[in-house]
Amino acid sequence: MYDRLAILQLIEDAERAEPFCVCGAPMVAADRGGALWLECSKRHRPRTGRLARIAFRLGLHSEREILAAPALVAA
Ligand SMILES: [Zn+2]
Repeated sequence: MYDRLAILQLIEDAERAEPFCVCGAPMVAADRGGALWLECSKRHRPRTGRLARIAFRLGLHSEREILAAPALVAA
């Protein structure tokens, strides 16, 4: 279990460790089905342009789980 302060610290540590995606865009924390992820900020932007669509399909954007869903539920 993590309290809000501990979760905030995890997010700050994750963003400090990996501030940018391999594409150069900033990384941001995001809720994915109750789990906390660090992901490329371009992930939810409209994919305009052929290169952007290809890069996204090839998984050329960084992402990693910060905290699994069960750990967040009790927070
Ligand atoms: Zn990216």
